[in-house]
Amino acid sequence: MADDLYREIILDHYRHPRHRGRLDPADAVVEADNPLCGDLIDISVRFDGDQLAGIAFEGTGCSISQAACSMLCDEVSGGSRARARDVADRFRAMLVNGGSADDLGDLEALQGVRAYPVRVKCATLPCNALLQALGHAEDRP
Ligand code: ZN
Repeated sequence: MADDLYREIILDHYRHPRHRGRLDPADAVVEADNPLCGDLIDISVRFDGDQLAGIAFEGTGCSISQAACSMLCDEVSGGSRARARDVADRFRAMLVNGGSADDLGDLEALQGVRAYPVRVKCATLPCNALLQALGHAEDRP
């Protein structure tokens, strides 16, 4: 039952991605790829003080990578940088270490992916890109 619901959520994000596009100007733009699957993600972020005021992505690849990016952007948009990092860390822990899916919004729908190590790389790609973007932006003077 839950599997069907999760599949619907994943397909919905894949077909109707949230936060699609490119911010201009942006405080950081990060491109990341997963050559194993051919996934490409380009995330741009804009900050207002400590808030993640804007986030957008462009990308191509499998449904898991694109849906994960849409869900991740949705979940962290408008929140603090610290929360964005926390969500990305916990999402990765859910997939890699079997961590809890609590309080991860739609990202919870991807927990079944942890049974497929090759697909875990697809799902964590946007996560790595976001963490890089958050890091870049903090390095700025
Ligand atoms: Zn993929």
